[in-house]
Amino acid sequence: MIVAIDGPAGAGKSTVARLVAADLGFGYLNTGSMYRAVALAAMREGADLGDGAAVARIARERTVRLGVADGADQVVLDEEEITVQVRRPEVSAVVSEVAAHPELREVVIRWQREVLDSGDWVADGRDIGSVVAPHADLKVYLTADAGERARRRHAELADEPGAPTFDQVHADIMARDARDEGRAASPLVVADGASVVDT
Ligand code: C5P
Repeated sequence: MIVAIDGPAGAGKSTVARLVAADLGFGYLNTGSMYRAVALAAMREGADLGDGAAVARIARERTVRLGVADGADQVVLDEEEITVQVRRPEVSAVVSEVAAHPELREVVIRWQREVLDSGDWVADGRDIGSVVAPHADLKVYLTADAGERARRRHAELADEPGAPTFDQVHADIMARDARDEGRAASPLVVADGASVVDT
């Protein structure tokens, strides 16, 4: 069984998805972490992030694994744990540019479908109910006002070293919304059959 939770940045998708997965005994797939891992790898290689073929090649050459250790989510790139690095503002600032390339989406969507092919999952992202798993048993579009999403994300990051200001978080969220909704390849939309929940 697949539960698909889509929506814009900071709407609470990962919090809800994690709790629902734990409650039902399902796996939890955070698809944004896959795009973040590729964005980080591309930044480290000094790749041109506007070059879809180059970014897709980097993804094909790497292994991204999402796991759980001691109850916490883990993101692993090849053998290196990058859980903290992928959430950093430098990655958030570029990930939606990287994720807009159709060549890269083809690779990452294949990874996601391989995971979702067996077992029971709660998956969150932007295009799970519309593109990755349109056959999902339950589709939810989780959303909230952009200012409220920025307030939550800002509070979440506040204790980290070099935490961004509210205005920086708000600008990042607005820019990502625009890129995620405006791109040609799997834009953020309310999937057919999805229930819209404003948090
Ligand atoms: O969910 P999260 O904010 O970590 O996602 C980071 C970025 O990855 C999003 O802003 C979006 O550009 C991209 N993404 C996507 N499709 C998904 C999940 C994330 O394009 N299914």
